[in-house]
Amino acid sequence: MHQPATMSDPIYISEIFSSIQGEGLLAGRRQIFVRLMECNLDCIYCDTKHDKTDFCSVETKPGSGIFTNLKQPLSLHKISEIIKDWQVQLPGSHHSVSFTGGEPLLYSEALGEWFPVIRKIIPIHLETNGTMHVALQGVKKHLDYVSMDMKLPSTAGCTEHLWDLHELFMREALCSTLSVKVVIGDSTPDKEILRVCKVISDVDASLPLFLQPLTLRDGSIGVSAGHIFHLQELASSLLPDVRVIPQMHRILGAL
Ligand code: SF4
Repeated sequence: MHQPATMSDPIYISEIFSSIQGEGLLAGRRQIFVRLMECNLDCIYCDTKHDKTDFCSVETKPGSGIFTNLKQPLSLHKISEIIKDWQVQLPGSHHSVSFTGGEPLLYSEALGEWFPVIRKIIPIHLETNGTMHVALQGVKKHLDYVSMDMKLPSTAGCTEHLWDLHELFMREALCSTLSVKVVIGDSTPDKEILRVCKVISDVDASLPLFLQPLTLRDGSIGVSAGHIFHLQELASSLLPDVRVIPQMHRILGAL
């Protein structure tokens, strides 16, 4: 897997667009999204393309929903220019830039050099699957927000081996504004939520935990209201800050 080592190296992305953040702590904030390619996991609900493509999609105007194709790989300088330009076009509209994936930390060496440049333009939000704690080390001092997933076996698939990695990542990410998200479905058992709460309690019980109801491919919610309430009650008996937020951008019909 190609990992750019410096800022002068190119980076593979799938899309750049402007939208409303629909998940977690920053839900409701307008953000610029930079979606990077490639991931180290293979979740069963994943709807992100992982393979490198010759072109990436970039909105012609932020929020227009109209895209142009740019030849890959893009230089980090080119992506910086797009972000800067959108800030000029819509002054004050964007709260932050969200680096999402795929798994952005696969490009950690390049991001560690690049993020100080971006941070002079706009605050940085990292959305990550929370499994690459070593890669986070070189990047974390440049981050304003980290939203980490904990991948549950019941919804993401064969992720039973990830608990220890999630805990290591959580400890490493504490220096920025950190929140934790888990996707819950009808098949999510109590023992998984108990394990999530135990990991969070051991690291920092005050961290916000977001229970995100599974969105099925047809856009419907894949967990009953009764089960959502049950899991919320269970988690809230162990942690002080538990919130339920579905993927709001899907409800809005936004990207
Ligand atoms: S971590 Fe995210 S991008 Fe990677 S496979 Fe899972 S859902 Fe897809």
